[in-house]
Amino acid sequence: MKTYPLFISAVLLSVSTVVVFAQSIGDAPSDAVVLFDGTADSLANNWRHARPKAKRKGDWIVEDGSMLRMRGAGHIETVAQFGDCQLHIEWSHTKQSSKEGQKRGNSGVFFPGGIEIQVLDNYNNPTYPDGFAGAVYGVMPPAANALRAPGQWQSYDIIYRRPIVRDGVVLDQGSMTVLVNGVVVQDSTPLDGGGGHKERKALNHAYPDAGPLLLQDHGNPVHFRNIWCRPLRPRPAEK
Ligand code: MG
Repeated sequence: MKTYPLFISAVLLSVSTVVVFAQSIGDAPSDAVVLFDGTADSLANNWRHARPKAKRKGDWIVEDGSMLRMRGAGHIETVAQFGDCQLHIEWSHTKQSSKEGQKRGNSGVFFPGGIEIQVLDNYNNPTYPDGFAGAVYGVMPPAANALRAPGQWQSYDIIYRRPIVRDGVVLDQGSMTVLVNGVVVQDSTPLDGGGGHKERKALNHAYPDAGPLLLQDHGNPVHFRNIWCRPLRPRPAEK
């Protein structure tokens, strides 16, 4: 019987899924969950407020094909639940602002369990390193500042591998890969338990297997558009 090298048979066996790529780079491929396509229906059907109605003074609205928070709206999260995933999202801080640091174009993309990829207008606006745009907030600064000027659209492509902790034992600490405008700024960055503002969580901090994606209302006018997400295949640690 003829035998094949292991790597060849593994390739032949594993690539059984066909994904039709988008005609334009950045648009959703065929197997993506489209989370926002620029329409009010898309916002209404795919997102819900994270803040109870009684405590809300504003709303998220659609303006010129983008979604943004109004004053007092609070965070917004997806109806769909995701674990490991590839997320594409575009954002723009359209306002020229005299504010500095964390007060200029601040928002964030949160993954289940609370890990944030920072959204911030850092074009000619420095801040502390692990709070920069493209940072895994509180964990790792981005490798570079690849932002365009305010008023232009920025794209994030994020590959999230969640921490897998079972009974307090870390099976896989998870990672983030982030491209800002096509530039890699996080390259399989270990999550180290995750972080927050001047804090680190325990290395064996437990994360949900799935949950909503959340966009932060940090009080600044940040627009979002063209949001889609693809679940990723399981890792060996999950089996
Ligand atoms: Mg933020």
